[in-house]
Amino acid sequence: MQIIGLNREELEDLVLELGEPRYRARQILDWVYKKGVDDFGQMSNLPVLFQQRLQAQGLVVSAVTPAGAAETADGTKKYLFRLSDGCGVEAVYIPEQKRKTVCFSTQVGCPVGCSFCATGRQGFERNLTAGEIVDQVRKIGLEKKTRITHAVAMGQGEPLANYAATLKALRLLNADYGLQMAARHLTVSTSGVVPAIYRLADEQLQINLALSLHATSDQLRSALIPLNRTYPLAQVIRACRDYAAKTNRRVTLEYIMLDGVNDGEDDLARLAELAMGWLCHVNLIPYNPVPGGAYRPSPPQTCQRFLGYLQERWVAASIRQERGAEVNAACGQLRQQLKL
Ligand code: SAH
Ligand code: SF4
Repeated sequence: MQIIGLNREELEDLVLELGEPRYRARQILDWVYKKGVDDFGQMSNLPVLFQQRLQAQGLVVSAVTPAGAAETADGTKKYLFRLSDGCGVEAVYIPEQKRKTVCFSTQVGCPVGCSFCATGRQGFERNLTAGEIVDQVRKIGLEKKTRITHAVAMGQGEPLANYAATLKALRLLNADYGLQMAARHLTVSTSGVVPAIYRLADEQLQINLALSLHATSDQLRSALIPLNRTYPLAQVIRACRDYAAKTNRRVTLEYIMLDGVNDGEDDLARLAELAMGWLCHVNLIPYNPVPGGAYRPSPPQTCQRFLGYLQERWVAASIRQERGAEVNAACGQLRQQLKL
């Protein structure tokens, strides 16, 4: 078993079962999260016999092992992590002046199967555990020798289809004994798992929600995102509005600009309509071509036209600055192309 996915109460129970006082849990957590030590033998304030007992129980600290990386000139770095069963997932480090962001994965592959996404085309293998999720962020911080300030569930997988593990991981990222990241700096992006959006709104966490909108009619959205057949647009938007109202957090509507597919004047008018009058923000995303994909990115003028039109109508909007495309680390391009 891995220590990394356990919360403080679970680790305390484990320590007590092994006949040690409760405060040993706190000591282990300090080593794991504050000092980045994975080897029980180096946890020098633990009795040597206890260190040995932890090992003898088959316990290990870490859940993911770096197995390759690729970096671009701007410092964006894509990591391939190997899991204990041999599966691989990717995560991306995105440094900016003030913030250091990690984009992490929540599943091996993805069950949603969006037509424009490299992960979706790969199929679904399994959910990640909370430990495998949180360890991606921890390992990148350690490797970069920096405090990771922001984390986004925008790597491989649909986080709200792996709800329990994703939530537990977010709580560990946020915990004072964990990575101490502000909840307001954590973001979950979803293709629209409606019941899970309502559930998330009731968690009493200040985390950000991003919806992968990408289309303003059910017909087109269902063609792009098959999950829309289960949870159609009106239901998804209602859930997002409820999230914004309950949490007072601005919801991001992500909109990939696909040439000739969703970038017409009708689309724009419906997008503005849909985003007006509630606490949301439209993020226009230049499409990143994926191998064998059938789409092309909209011309930059079209993106500008969308941006201007929305802003004239007092809809908060921006165009996402794409990073990492050279190493296929940009949105939707993650698909284990890194090999050792
Ligand atoms: N499954 C979740 C989170 C991971 S995808 C979701 O879909 O929201 C993260 C973001 O990248 C989503 O907004 C997704 O729609 C977008 N994306 C996927 N493929 C893309 C591509 N080829 N170009 C640009 N963005 C893409
Ligand atoms: Fe899954 Fe998100 Fe990719 Fe769709 S866009 S296939 S939900 S990872």
